[in-house]
Amino acid sequence: MKNKKPHLFSPGALICAVFDHRFEVSQNITDHIKEYRCTRCGQEMTDTAQGFMAKLTPKFRETNAFLAKFHQRRCSRKMFQQKVFSEAS
Ligand SMILES: [Zn+2]
Repeated sequence: MKNKKPHLFSPGALICAVFDHRFEVSQNITDHIKEYRCTRCGQEMTDTAQGFMAKLTPKFRETNAFLAKFHQRRCSRKMFQQKVFSEAS
């Protein structure tokens, strides 16, 4: 039985290697940090706190999940305060 080597390059990855990736926002983490996924090869990237784009590693994924939870809580609290304020006035 032959050992099949895993494909290092999918057709999408080969196109990306030549023409660069085509990223789309896959998730909004906060107003300034987003996750992106390449529509051709599936590579995932993220914005970093320093304003750069980096490959979405498990560590970044974990950090983003925490940031998203924190951001959602802050947004819902802000919306609650606005609602209370508008009902009070
Ligand atoms: Zn790609």
